[in-house]
Amino acid sequence: MRPPAQNPPTPQTPDPATAAGAPEPRTSPDTPDAHEPPDGEEAQVIVVGAGPAGASTAVHLARAGVDVLLLEKSRFPRDKVCGDGLTPRGVHQLLRMGVDIDGPGWMRSRGMRWVCAGRQVTIDWPDLGRYPDFGLTRSRHDFDDILARHAEASGARLRLGVKATGPVTDRAGRITGVTATGPDGRPVTYRAPLVVAAEGASARTAIAMGLERDPRRALATAARRYYRSPELSKDEYLELWADLRCARTGRDLPGYGWIFPLGDGRVNVGLGALPHRDHGTIDLRATLDQWLARLPRHWGLNEQNADSPLRSAALPMGFNRHPQYSRGLLLVGDSAGMISPWSGEGIAQAMEAAEVAAEAVVLALTRPDGPRRDQALQRYPAEIRRRWGRYYRLGNTAGDLVFSRFGYRPILNGQVMSRPGLLASLARLLTHLMEDPPRDTADHVLNTLVKAVPLRGR
Ligand SMILES: Cc1cc2nc3c(=O)[nH]c(=O)nc-3n(C[C@H](O)[C@H](O)[C@H](O)COP(=O)(O)OP(=O)(O)OC[C@H]3O[C@@H](n4cnc5c(N)ncnc54)[C@H](O)[C@@H]3O)c2cc1C
Repeated sequence: MRPPAQNPPTPQTPDPATAAGAPEPRTSPDTPDAHEPPDGEEAQVIVVGAGPAGASTAVHLARAGVDVLLLEKSRFPRDKVCGDGLTPRGVHQLLRMGVDIDGPGWMRSRGMRWVCAGRQVTIDWPDLGRYPDFGLTRSRHDFDDILARHAEASGARLRLGVKATGPVTDRAGRITGVTATGPDGRPVTYRAPLVVAAEGASARTAIAMGLERDPRRALATAARRYYRSPELSKDEYLELWADLRCARTGRDLPGYGWIFPLGDGRVNVGLGALPHRDHGTIDLRATLDQWLARLPRHWGLNEQNADSPLRSAALPMGFNRHPQYSRGLLLVGDSAGMISPWSGEGIAQAMEAAEVAAEAVVLALTRPDGPRRDQALQRYPAEIRRRWGRYYRLGNTAGDLVFSRFGYRPILNGQVMSRPGLLASLARLLTHLMEDPPRDTADHVLNTLVKAVPLRGR
């Protein structure tokens, strides 16, 4: 597909966000402006942010022949605070993009080991028709670099060291590009009729377009640190601790702890917490220290073996920013709060949403600017809602009522932990590993549960 020669003002199109009274963008209109930075490149689509959401969107668009510009403020490889764990759903997305996961550096997992109520139970990933039966770990230092390079190899124009500073809009308030600080530190304007915001939790472009975070959704935080531990590093299971207590208060941690093997002599160890507003603040560092002090000494998870500082970041979850499409702007991944409210997992979700967004964009670009193009773009939020709407709604409710108050202890109690079959079904619910149409009893039960949730509201 050819890039448009220029970016004329777009006709007014009906927009649910505007109709619903969404705030006006905090931008200057796309009229000749002496203060606007000089023009840089043009494309059919600009993707801001080359994390899993942005790089995957660019892969799918480029493979479909779309001229896509992928802007990333960092230079790869770079660190990103994460647990580095992928469930089979995430592996499935990598395979769909043709990423080589057989090369060195990928660590396969067979399943999860849950530790709770004085027991530990290992559960293999289920053998489903749709998803592979293994998970993966890889540090985000490498992972994001691989994906971004894959986008470039697929045909996307990757521009590193480019920080988007704000949207450019036309007179109708529709996005037509972004202003940025270029790799040389100078201001520059990039133009495209469609923009994908994939900037992670900062959500800068979305906020500048007036799309604020939903204050009803609690914001989780998580912290992680790398340790050298040759013994744990080759473990075939992702280990999850569900009955940790907060340091100082002694209350249940409203989340869980993890030890994810990286296969390179290191493990990624961390804690995630979704505190209810009554819970008070949680000292993740002290809670981590307290937990690690309980672990066997020969595991070596101590200060001497620490391979990084402890770093934390926010987890935007449960669709906490919407609409996911508005006025030429699509939000993908953490920018749209797409982290699963059940597990805190967000890489698979970012990659899957990226594929759905790209499909909608490819269809939209076959149509002239206007209502019919917008109709095609509205398929993106509609499809996300169809796939995950009920599941996320139920997860948000479980988060409000259970996880944010008591963590996972109530559902992983002694009864459940002593029944591996039940625990395996629960694990499938937490990691969204069920098939529809159902293949087994667990699928039947889980699908029935999720389908009982009404799909209205947000
Ligand atoms: C401690 C912790 C542990 C986690 N563990 C896991 C886990 O084990 N498994 C899992 O699936 N998920 C995990 N998550 C969640 C996961 O990290 C995110 O859901 C995922 O990174 C979302 O991808 P994204 O592409 O939307 O955003 P990001 O990964 O944040 O990528 C955004 C990109 O945009 C770039 N960017 C930002 N602003 C601009 C700008 N203005 N201009 C240009 N570029 C910009 C950033 O540099 C970055 O490269 C964890 C999160 C945390 C905090």
